[in-house]
Amino acid sequence: AEEKSTDFGYFVLSHLWPATSCRQSRHCCPTNACCRGSNAPTEFTIHGLWPNYNDGTWPACCTKKSFDEKEVSTLLGALEKYWPTYGCFPYITCDGSNGSFWAHEWEKHGTCSSPVVWDEYNYFLTTLNLYFKYNVTRILNEEGYVASNTEKYPLGGIISAIQNSFHATPWLVCNHGAIDELRLCFYKDFKPRDCPTESTQNDRVSSGSCPDYVSLPLYVPL
Ligand code: 5GP
Ligand code: 5GP
Repeated sequence: AEEKSTDFGYFVLSHLWPATSCRQSRHCCPTNACCRGSNAPTEFTIHGLWPNYNDGTWPACCTKKSFDEKEVSTLLGALEKYWPTYGCFPYITCDGSNGSFWAHEWEKHGTCSSPVVWDEYNYFLTTLNLYFKYNVTRILNEEGYVASNTEKYPLGGIISAIQNSFHATPWLVCNHGAIDELRLCFYKDFKPRDCPTESTQNDRVSSGSCPDYVSLPLYVPL
């Protein structure tokens, strides 16, 4: 089982669209970031960096290294801003106890990223650096795909905008016609690669949860 963590095939950097993620959890704010009102982000935020096998499955909970906030104390400002929590309840960590979103992502995915990513600090720093380097919100905004409660955008146009800038095909996940997640895929040396498509992804077709026209909704002020 320990070998498993070293032979994953690639990384998925998963971004959340805040208003879609918050749709199910507005009722429990302000314990999460869904109630920031006019300060609410209209930018994709980070879900996690996930090592995946080439067959579309992925390892989870590879070591017993539990999350220690002290190890990322210098990153907390960035994590609060760019990696906020939208869920309502504590996240389940690998030992079955309640933890934060960060604890959940580090323990479930980060601990399986060795040796490319070797500790908790490096996991969060690497993820933040990828997020800033490939600013998917800026890429979409520059092509006119901006947060809106009225517009719908062609899925193919959004995928093309990412392809033209990132030089690889993203993977979009939708919920009720709204973009919920935008995922970028990387080789283990962090060079961009296409996300898996039908032939390599066993559980769902890449971007297959999205209709032909998708929305990027805004927060509705409470
Ligand atoms: P979590 O936030 O618990 O890591 O994942 C939330 C959802 O994202 C899961 O229910 C699952 O559908 C999907 N997911 C989580 N990790 C992975 C992964 O490593 N690869 C893929 N393809 N999907 C994942
Ligand atoms: P999924 O079904 O994809 O795992 O998660 C759907 C939404 O629920 C995500 O946007 C995420 O913010 C939230 N979520 C996922 N897993 C957990 C969890 O373990 N605890 C909490 N509180 N929220 C979660």
